[in-house]
Amino acid sequence: MAKIKKMCKAAKDGMKFNNPYLIEQVTNPAYICKNCLRTAADKDLLCKPEKIK
Ligand SMILES: [Zn+2]
Repeated sequence: MAKIKKMCKAAKDGMKFNNPYLIEQVTNPAYICKNCLRTAADKDLLCKPEKIK
C-alpha cells in the first residue's frame, strides 16, 4: 500500500476522507493526536500520538 501522509496534515490540506482505509482508521481509533485532537488506529498518521486504549 502506498504510504499515506499524516492525517493531521492531510486534513489541513483539505483532503477528503473517502478512502476506506482512512475511514477505518478514524472509526476504530487507538490513538489521539494531542496537537490536533484527531484520532486514528495507526499512530504513524498523527503528528503527536497519544494512546487512548
Ligand atoms: Zn496532529
